[in-house]
Amino acid sequence: MRLDPTELTEDEQALREGVRAFLAARLPAGSYPLGLGMGGDVDPQFSRDLGAKGWLGMALPKEYGGGGRSAVDRLVVVEELLAVGAPVGYHWVADRQSGPNIAANGTEEQKRYFLPRIARGELCFAIGMSEPDSGSDLASVRTKATPADGGWLINGRKIWTTAAYAATHILGLFRTSRDRYGGLTQFIVDTKSEGLTVSRIPFIDGTQEFCEVAFEDVFVPDSMRLGAVGAGWRQNTAELVLERGGADRWMSLIPVLEHWAANVSGRVPGWAQADLGSITARCWAFHGMSLAIARMVDDGLSPTIEAALAKEMATRFEQECIEIVTRHYGRTPQLTSPDPYESLLARAILTGPSWTIRGGTTEILRNIIAKGLTRE
Ligand SMILES: Cc1cc2nc3c(=O)[nH]c(=O)nc-3n(C[C@H](O)[C@H](O)[C@H](O)COP(=O)(O)OP(=O)(O)OC[C@H]3O[C@@H](n4cnc5c(N)ncnc54)[C@H](O)[C@@H]3O)c2cc1C
Repeated sequence: MRLDPTELTEDEQALREGVRAFLAARLPAGSYPLGLGMGGDVDPQFSRDLGAKGWLGMALPKEYGGGGRSAVDRLVVVEELLAVGAPVGYHWVADRQSGPNIAANGTEEQKRYFLPRIARGELCFAIGMSEPDSGSDLASVRTKATPADGGWLINGRKIWTTAAYAATHILGLFRTSRDRYGGLTQFIVDTKSEGLTVSRIPFIDGTQEFCEVAFEDVFVPDSMRLGAVGAGWRQNTAELVLERGGADRWMSLIPVLEHWAANVSGRVPGWAQADLGSITARCWAFHGMSLAIARMVDDGLSPTIEAALAKEMATRFEQECIEIVTRHYGRTPQLTSPDPYESLLARAILTGPSWTIRGGTTEILRNIIAKGLTRE
């Protein structure tokens, strides 16, 4: 376990200022639906605008249309986006994990096709890991890819596939043989493929981002296999580092927290200020953890345990923040409130319990951390 203290350089600070100024102009308050972190609104035009600024695919190689910059630069941009609850839903998964996965494991043809489009904000990827009987025990996935002429036929079901309804592609983990770990392979599936059906699953707050995806003899050309047959588990594990260690695990509630802080500071009893101080201090600590993890990624490391630790602590922190702010609210926040911050807090109360489940549950993360630490 290694989380070295690190700070932003002057260039990284300057990037932060640039992004902040852009967002102030592009997303004036009230002009967009406030989002809860990675659950931000799906707005393809906003994603394209970010792409045009060079703020998507930042760490992807330049020769494939990426920015050739660092994971830390990407983190700086992401923190600014999450701080204002920006509509990040269209590009989120592609920018965070599918792009880097394709850059690391894709063929030349895949890199030339997908990476420039991801960097321009044109593609929306969904994560096809979980299945009706396989969540925590991901290696038990059963949705099969069987060899066919020129490619593969996929049969089975994926569930909890966030934003699959908007996705152009699903990057999923499929079973290519009975070998528990060695029998898994990743494929990039075009959501317009014949035999692929996306059904939406209403969430408790009335949103419909959640989806179930049925595959019935979906043909995927071999050119859309990502990495070697049987390499899926290793690739998927590396992808989960990108999914778990970032700022999106502690910043879902920042717009609500900032609004609350602005309203409570200076005119509240000491105990509310103590809560504010405690939240602020921990936000800084989580910012430091995400930054340290991003620097490790930039050093070519795959900080699996560190990312699991960050997610385990940060998502519990987010849930505690919901409790604290709600306690200070004085009445039950309403989803239908005309005050966007109250409505957002009401959504957080309803959906917050899912934050410690998505991306790997707290119990599973603790298993990973414990096993990793005993190996060290
Ligand atoms: C908001 C949200 C978005 C999601 N988006 C996606 C997505 O885009 N793509 C995708 O593929 N998946 C997605 N998921 C699915 C998510 O990854 C799974 O829900 C999660 O991995 C848990 O799997 P499960 O739901 O099957 O629960 P189970 O695995 O059945 O777990 C049930 C309970 O048992 C506990 N448990 C299970 N095994 C162990 C063990 N070995 N030791 C201790 N405790 C254990 C778990 O911690 C949990 O509390 C999303 C989930 C949510 C809530």
